[in-house]
Amino acid sequence: MEISKEHFKKEYSRALTSLYASEIQDLTPLEQYITLGSVVKEYASQNWMQTKKKNQQSQAKQVYYFSIEFLPGKLLKSNLLNLGILDTVREGLAELGVDFASLEAAAADPGLGNGGLGRLASCFLDSMATCDIPGNGNGIRYRYGLFKQKFVNGFQVELPDDWLRHADVWETRRENKAELVRFFGDVHLEEDEEGVIKVSYSNTEDILAVPYDTGILGYENDTVNNLRLWSAEIPTNAELEYYPEERRKSIHSISEMLYPDDSSYDGRLLRLKQEYFFVSAGVQSIIRYYRRLGVPIEHLAEKVSIHINDTHPTMCIPELMRILLDEEGLSWDAAWTITMKTCSYTNHTILAEALEKWPERMLSNLVPRIYQIICEINRRHLESMTVLYGADFTQRTAIIQDGVIHMANLAIIGSHSVNGVAKLHTDILKEKALHDFYLAYPARFNNKTNGITHRRWLLLSNEGLSDLISDYIGTEWKKKPNELYLLKAFKEDTILLEKLEQVKLANKERFAAYVKEEMGIEIDPNAVFDVQIKRLHAYKRQLLNVLHIISLYLKLKETNVEEEMVPRVFIFGAKAAPSYSYAKEIIKLINAVADLINNDATIDDKIKVIFVENYGVTLAEKIIPAADISEQISLVTKEASGTSNMKLMLNGAVTLATLDGANVEIHDKVGDENMLLFGMQDKELYHFYDSNSYHSQEIYDHNPRLKRCLDALVDGTIPNIEAEGREIFDSLLKYNDEYFVLKDYDSYVQAQSRIDGLYRDRKKWNQMSLMNIANAGEFSSDYTIMHYADEIWNVNHNKNL
Ligand SMILES: *Cc1c(COP(=O)(O)O)cnc(C)c1O
Repeated sequence: MEISKEHFKKEYSRALTSLYASEIQDLTPLEQYITLGSVVKEYASQNWMQTKKKNQQSQAKQVYYFSIEFLPGKLLKSNLLNLGILDTVREGLAELGVDFASLEAAAADPGLGNGGLGRLASCFLDSMATCDIPGNGNGIRYRYGLFKQKFVNGFQVELPDDWLRHADVWETRRENKAELVRFFGDVHLEEDEEGVIKVSYSNTEDILAVPYDTGILGYENDTVNNLRLWSAEIPTNAELEYYPEERRKSIHSISEMLYPDDSSYDGRLLRLKQEYFFVSAGVQSIIRYYRRLGVPIEHLAEKVSIHINDTHPTMCIPELMRILLDEEGLSWDAAWTITMKTCSYTNHTILAEALEKWPERMLSNLVPRIYQIICEINRRHLESMTVLYGADFTQRTAIIQDGVIHMANLAIIGSHSVNGVAKLHTDILKEKALHDFYLAYPARFNNKTNGITHRRWLLLSNEGLSDLISDYIGTEWKKKPNELYLLKAFKEDTILLEKLEQVKLANKERFAAYVKEEMGIEIDPNAVFDVQIKRLHAYKRQLLNVLHIISLYLKLKETNVEEEMVPRVFIFGAKAAPSYSYAKEIIKLINAVADLINNDATIDDKIKVIFVENYGVTLAEKIIPAADISEQISLVTKEASGTSNMKLMLNGAVTLATLDGANVEIHDKVGDENMLLFGMQDKELYHFYDSNSYHSQEIYDHNPRLKRCLDALVDGTIPNIEAEGREIFDSLLKYNDEYFVLKDYDSYVQAQSRIDGLYRDRKKWNQMSLMNIANAGEFSSDYTIMHYADEIWNVNHNKNL
C-alpha cells in the first residue's frame, strides 16, 4: 500500500488520542504498540474485506488448514513488511520520538503451539496468502499458550502464559458466526414415512464455539486470508438457564490451555474434547459458508479442501460425513465420495507414542454420533478390503482394533492424499510405518518436504544479511527465493565474503548483548556459536551434544591444548513437556554443565554454555541470525523433517547433522563440502533393530574417552546432578541407550573436531556459509505450499514454480 510518512504520523497521533487521550511521550511501550497495532489493523482491513468479497464472487476454491497448533510469532513487523510500509512506519515513529524496538518488544508472542508442527502451520498460512491461495487456518484460541519456562537451580519451572492479558490487537471476535458443538447425550435414529433416517439428540451438553479471526497478510499482494480460532463459551440461549459453576468451568476448560506435549497426551478426555470442538465448529462454518454460495452440495470438493495437519483434526472426516448424511440427506456412498475428495492428511511422525489412539468407550461416550459413523466407515473398510487382501492384512489396517480407535488409520482411509514431510520420512511411511496402506492405496501417498517462510526467517529477522544479499543480486529473490542461487556466482568474491562475515559478527554481537543483559554472562562474538534449538526430546539427542561438551571440557582440563582451540559458545534453547521427566533431567544436566564450565577460570573462556530460558519464535528470531553451527543430530529416521535446520541454513549456519529428515535434502543441495555429516544411516539402524545386536555397554567398555565422559555424570565431576546424572547414566547403559547416543558418539566427536580447522580458514568458512544461503531458497514454504496447491488441493495460485 502507498502511504506517506506524514499521513501515517497523523493517523498514529489520532489513534493514540482516541485510545488513550494522552500525549505521545506519556504512553508506555505497550500502549504505543497497541496504538500502532490498531492503525495497522485498519490498513489491512480494507484488503481483508476485498479478499473476502473477491473470493465469494468468484466462488474460488478455498483451502481450510485444520491444525490444533499455530505458532505465528509476533505479527506487527510481518504485517508492516507485507503491507510494504515497514520503513515508512519506522521512520515516522522515530520522528515522533517512539522507539520501535521497545514498542515491538512489548507485544506478546502467541504461544499457541509447541514447536515445529505449529510453526509449520503458520509458515503455511503466510505462504498461502503470499501465493494468493484462498486459504484459511482453523484452530483453537487457547486462553493460555505454552507455558513460560524459567530455570530455578537449573530445573525447568513452568509458569502460565497469560498472553491475552492485554488483549490481542489483531483478532476480531465474530459472535454472529458462532457454532454449536454437541457433546455426550443419546442419539436417536428414526425412519420417516419415505424411509429417510432422521437423527435427533437428547441430553447433550452443548458448547458455543465463538470464532476469533485474524487477518493473514500476503507479501505485497493485497491478499488477506483468515486464521479462525475458536473459543469455547456458554451457549447464549442458555443464559437464563442455571449453569452451575462446575459446568461453566468445564465449558471454558475446552479452550483454556494448549497441551504442552507434542507427542503423548495426558488429560485425555479433555484433549479429545478439544479436538472435536475445533473440528466440528470449523466444518460447520465451512458448510454454512458453502451453502451461501448456492452451489449444490455434490460439488463441495470442487470448492473446498480440508487439510488435516497431523492426526489431531482427523474427526473432520466423520464430522463432514455427519453433516452430509444427517443435515444434507445424502446417501452414504455420495457422502463418502465427497468426503474423500475433500479431505487430505499430513503425517508428521512415526513415533509410536505420537500416533493417536482413543479408547472406543471414551469416544463413543463423548461423541456418540461420530462414533457410529466411525464404526460404519470401519465396517465398510473391512468388508471391501477383506475380499481383496484377506483378513490378516485387513485387520492390520482397521480403524478399530481391540477397543481402540486408530486415528491415523481413519485419516488415511478417509483422505485422497497422505503426505510425509521429507523424502526419507515419506519413504519410511511407504516402506515401513504405513506399508500396508501403501500397498492398498499407492496413489494416495506423496511427499511434501516442509518449508519455512523466508520473510520471517530472513527478511524480518536478519535485515543485515537481507540487505547484503540485495546489494549483490538485486531484490527479486524476495519474491522468488530460489534466486538466492545467484549468490553462488560470488563464491570467490572476497569482498562479499568479508561483508558476510561482518554481518554475522554484528548479529553475534547483538545476541551477545542480549545474553549479557538477560543472563549476566559474557560471551565472545569471535567464538564459534554452536546452536541447538528445538523441543527437548530424547530422539533429538541434546544429550549427545552435551556429552561432547563434557568431553571437550575434560580434554581442556587434562591436557593443555587450549591455545589451539577456537573458542566455542554452545547455545541451547528447549522446553521439555512438564510430564517428561527424562527431558527435564537433560535440562538440569545441561544447566549444571553450563554452571561448571562458565565458572571455571582455568579454561580461559574457551568454552561457554548458554541455555536460554523460554525458547520460542521470538527467541529463535534472535538466535538464528547469530548461529555459525546448526546442530541437527537426531537419531536417524526419528526426525520427520525438521525446520530449524532450514532456518539456520538460510541464515548462513553450517549444518552438523545426521542424514535424517530434511537434512537429506539439505545435503543434496549443498554437498559434503558445505555440511558436516556424521552418524549411522537408516540401513545400519534397521540392522540393529532387526538383529537385536546393539549393546551400549560394549561401547562404554572399549572407549576410554567416552567412559571418562559418562563417568563424569555419576562421579561428582559435575556438581548438583546426583539423581539426574544417575538416571541418565542408567538410561545409556542399564537400559541400553534407546537412541544410540553411544553408537554415534565417536563419529560426532570426529565431525565436531573438523570445525576448528574449517572455521579458522575464514575464507573457506565464509564460502560454506554463502553456499548454504545460496541453496536455501528452495526451502521457502512458498514452494512447499505451491506443491500442496498443485498436487493435493487442486487450487489456483499466482506463481510459477
Ligand atoms: C522452527 C521452530 C521449531 C522447530 O524446530 P526443529 O528443530 O525443526 O524441531 C520449534 N520451535 C520453534 C519456536 C521454531 O521456531
